[in-house]
Amino acid sequence: MGDCLDRNSSKVRALFEELVLDMLDFTFPRTCVVCGDLLIRQEHDLCFTCYVNLPYSVYGLSKTNPICRGLAGRVPLALGYFLLDYRRNSGVSKMMKAIKYEGAESLAVKLGKEMGDRITRDHGDPDFTHFAVIPMHASKVRKRGYNQALRLAEGVTEVLSGELITDLFLQPNRSISQTKKNRAERLTSSESKYQFNPKYKGLSLGHLCLVDDVMTTGSTIESCLKSCLHLDDIGIEKVSVMTAACVL
Ligand SMILES: [Zn+2]
Repeated sequence: MGDCLDRNSSKVRALFEELVLDMLDFTFPRTCVVCGDLLIRQEHDLCFTCYVNLPYSVYGLSKTNPICRGLAGRVPLALGYFLLDYRRNSGVSKMMKAIKYEGAESLAVKLGKEMGDRITRDHGDPDFTHFAVIPMHASKVRKRGYNQALRLAEGVTEVLSGELITDLFLQPNRSISQTKKNRAERLTSSESKYQFNPKYKGLSLGHLCLVDDVMTTGSTIESCLKSCLHLDDIGIEKVSVMTAACVL
């Protein structure tokens, strides 16, 4: 008798929860960040059709990945990986804009997990010992609410082994937005932009993987990694880079 009442009350609760979710979807309709269509309840940020039709990278995790080739002669990388081909005015650019400026942080975590899942599926669990992200200035974090690269890395480390160090790199000085500079200016200004956090000096990092959202010229990645590669008191065996998207 008691069991029957419990079952009935949990059914009523589930029905009530569904009703509330339906009402929320009706009152505050959610749309796909790529195509703009209304999302069904099981979809979040992106509709299933757009998600499966994203231009997934075919390069995998490798030392000949375009990420490595783009940084050749600038930073010695062990491996490179990116999830999506980035093109202007594409679904991917809309997605990355939503992640960066429109509060789609859960989408960043989801993409991070997707990266981890695909790497595991195709290559097994790599030997990354630590993960780090490109830092974002505190004022930007306050304005946007989060660092999108950190959300991506959190998704990645839900799947792959390795410790995520959220403050391995520091950004001491705010500079003009990188998007407003040309490539030469970006390369020059990025030389001294980032710093390795001194509290981690003496730490053995083994195989460090830097996670970021989009690689364009690679100047921010280069600057970040150069802040630690010349330091003798940090034990880094290898450095790799993975990004959610890459401009080919
Ligand atoms: Zn869609």
